[in-house]
Amino acid sequence: MSLNAQPAASLFIDGRPVEGEGALLPVHYPYTGEEIASLRQASAAQVAAACRAAARAQPAWAALAPVERARVLSRAAALIRERNEELSRLETLDTGKPIQETLVADWESGAQALEFFAGLGPTVTGQMIPLGRDWAYTRREALGVCAGIGAWNYPSQIACWKAAPALIMGNAMVFKPSEETPLGALKLAGILAEAGLPAGIFSVVQGRAEVGAALVADPHVAKVSLTGSVPTGRRVYAAAAEGMRHVTMELGGKSPLIVFEDAELEDAVGAAILANFYSSGQICSNGTRVFLQDRIRQPFLDRLTERLRQIRIGDPLDPDTQLGPIVSPAQAAQIRQAIAAGQAAGARLVCGGAGEGAFVPPTVFADATDDMAITRDEIFGPVMTTLAFEDEEEAIRRANATGFGLAAGVFTRDLARAHRVVARLEAGTCWINAYNLTPVEMPFGGTKLSGIGRENSAAAIEHYSQLKSVYVGMGAVEAPY
Ligand code: NDP
Repeated sequence: MSLNAQPAASLFIDGRPVEGEGALLPVHYPYTGEEIASLRQASAAQVAAACRAAARAQPAWAALAPVERARVLSRAAALIRERNEELSRLETLDTGKPIQETLVADWESGAQALEFFAGLGPTVTGQMIPLGRDWAYTRREALGVCAGIGAWNYPSQIACWKAAPALIMGNAMVFKPSEETPLGALKLAGILAEAGLPAGIFSVVQGRAEVGAALVADPHVAKVSLTGSVPTGRRVYAAAAEGMRHVTMELGGKSPLIVFEDAELEDAVGAAILANFYSSGQICSNGTRVFLQDRIRQPFLDRLTERLRQIRIGDPLDPDTQLGPIVSPAQAAQIRQAIAAGQAAGARLVCGGAGEGAFVPPTVFADATDDMAITRDEIFGPVMTTLAFEDEEEAIRRANATGFGLAAGVFTRDLARAHRVVARLEAGTCWINAYNLTPVEMPFGGTKLSGIGRENSAAAIEHYSQLKSVYVGMGAVEAPY
């Protein structure tokens, strides 16, 4: 079986594949470390060319009737569905995530975003505002050229989640994937072109932070949408402010999952597993601080470890594999450091540990305290920290005692309590008796350090458009002098 995933060219600019002029960018399969493609980064001139092409093509795209733009997105969604198997295999090679996940969670979610915004876009209208004799109306207009910058954990989903609302509203997008996972966005560019997207409307440039920074600073760029860590978010937000650009920031988290003692045990354990170990724990919204009310603590830990013993770890291309490798040796080393720090600080390792090579097993800590690094810092790996609590008030206070505010979950059979607690949790996305479900119909995004703006749902439309007010005079103009 060939693991060669070399694309036609490293970049996609102005409607065609183009070779990069910058430094080499090798792509490794996280499971074996094998090089599966060798790309070249974009030069500064190529980033500028992609933005120029976008600015040139965007007005005609924005002038189309929304249903015409929608047709392109719908066709692209259909092409993704037809090719889901091949695309998912590539996603697995790029990220190391198990094929049983990529087949259902990555391109599938991207296709749903394209379908959803294809349906929603043509329904977007302005307001008519009566003013007596005169009147006013509003137009929701494109921003122009948007820069998209992605993280490595859901590379193709992130590209689609950003492209779909941007394009339906008549914008063009220049997208830079993470250097770790550059392949999926190129596929998306090819599929959109095949679906009839005009040249220049969706381009892909590759490279590390300098390329992202050049993109953010390009004078044609009106909006920057970043998915990444908080430190990167700070830098990109500051750079965007220089040009008063709009931003969407989808950043990291250390989200609380609160399990009250009346919770359905099996469901709470299942949700905690999804909230910590899916995609080897490399998910921004993960509920990595699991607060357990006293009476449920031991039964929860017993059942959790019993279920984790059954997990199948290994070759991500084997359809039976449930937990794959970590995306890169550097990321695996960081996770191991965090685990070692947890042990050194006195937290009790209930299961898991450092693992070997590319693999870190599902790791659970108990008897942790709020001041430990494993409780405070985002680890972005399969590491769950469990914390004991006594009552509701305490759980809310400690859950909110973090700079992050991306997500939160509550498990209880008491619905009044569930809603009462959720109302007080400082998080952009909350789940009651569920975790990590992000349907395209629901807004997704963070508060506090976890970000600005929302992806998915009708809320995303506002973040990829601007409002123009038009006052219409219907009679004589009366000037005072
Ligand atoms: P990083 O913040 O390291 O990178 C994100 C992207 O920004 C990458 O494409 C990176 O390029 C690029 N970049 C880095 N520096 C700059 C800069 N100065 N200017 C412009 N672009 C820049 O995140 P990771 O890729 O490591 O992803 C993990 C992080 O993403 C975690 O914190 C996670 O929580 C968060 N995340 C948030 C999600 C959300 O929706 N809220 C979803 C998924 C992840 P390169 O990688 O090539 O250096």
